[in-house]
Amino acid sequence: MTVRRSRLCLALSLALPFAAHAEDGRFALVIHGGAGTLTREAITPEIDAAIRADLNRALDAGSAVLSEGGASLDAVVAAVKVLEDSPYFNAGKGAVFTHEGHNELDASIMDGSTRRAGAVAGLRTVRNPIDLARKVMDDSPHVMLIGEGAERFAAERGIEQVDPSYFRTEQRWNQLQTVLEREKAQAAIPASTYFGTVGAVAFDQRGRIAAATSTGGMVNKRWGRVGDAPIIGAGTYADAHCGVSATGWGEYFIRLSVAHDICARMRYGGQSLAVAADAVLMEEVPKLGGDGGVIAIDGQGAIRMPFNTAGMYRGWVTVAGDRGVAIFADEADPDGRTTPDKAD
Ligand code: ASP
Repeated sequence: MTVRRSRLCLALSLALPFAAHAEDGRFALVIHGGAGTLTREAITPEIDAAIRADLNRALDAGSAVLSEGGASLDAVVAAVKVLEDSPYFNAGKGAVFTHEGHNELDASIMDGSTRRAGAVAGLRTVRNPIDLARKVMDDSPHVMLIGEGAERFAAERGIEQVDPSYFRTEQRWNQLQTVLEREKAQAAIPASTYFGTVGAVAFDQRGRIAAATSTGGMVNKRWGRVGDAPIIGAGTYADAHCGVSATGWGEYFIRLSVAHDICARMRYGGQSLAVAADAVLMEEVPKLGGDGGVIAIDGQGAIRMPFNTAGMYRGWVTVAGDRGVAIFADEADPDGRTTPDKAD
């Protein structure tokens, strides 16, 4: 009897933290494919349609996990892998080139309910960097691995590696040549033309939040430059009540610990997700001279996607079941208030 009761208590205590979410089957997912100077004139209708199709495929992949009761961690990996495999985003295939003409990839992942995290930087052969970040989290004593050591770890753990030429797209190669020419001519290069990066944040049916980010970094980067995407607290962060994935000018996001700052404002300051995310993106980042955007989810599954650039590739599935994808600032998001004009 005593044994039975204590077993029952144990079962209840394990189930209780998630009980509020277990019955209603609600989940939420947000994704991004980077923020930047995205204008309608710069994208042909065919490319616009192809990008939206890939954003939808990423939402499908993540939602399939969540609707079946799967973990937010698995959902963010599934969504990010679709975007890494797409040539339209600056992550995995289609990553930007470094000054020396290489593709160097960074990624990170964080599990909000346990605060476990994994990150990788400076990869040249790992097909899906988010898989390796997950492996670092699940199957190593470390949080962050870089360069050759990270690739050795990938080989030891059987993570798929490819010839570096796999990542190359002509569009990204030409982008590097344009930037190099402008640099030589000492012409101005608008910083936000550099952006890309992909990410996902999910809230699963048990109320667990996870966040993941993957990028090729910034075009023409040098000297082993690493941006915010693989830095836990800067480009990616998750705890029990908040998850964030960022895109933008990484140096500013590192200096402001953007992802962690949003969650900390909620935790210590009692701010709502909307107030915290908008304050960091619309006030703190521009104050220092940076730009970009974030996607974020709170402990009830509410979402927020502020950005201070002309556009951000993004998609969402809300707890109410609304679903959509958007690119430009004037396209309505679920809360209709993501752009500077519309912000609180
Ligand atoms: N945040 C990324 C970096 O600085 C770039 C991006 O979001 O496009 O590496």
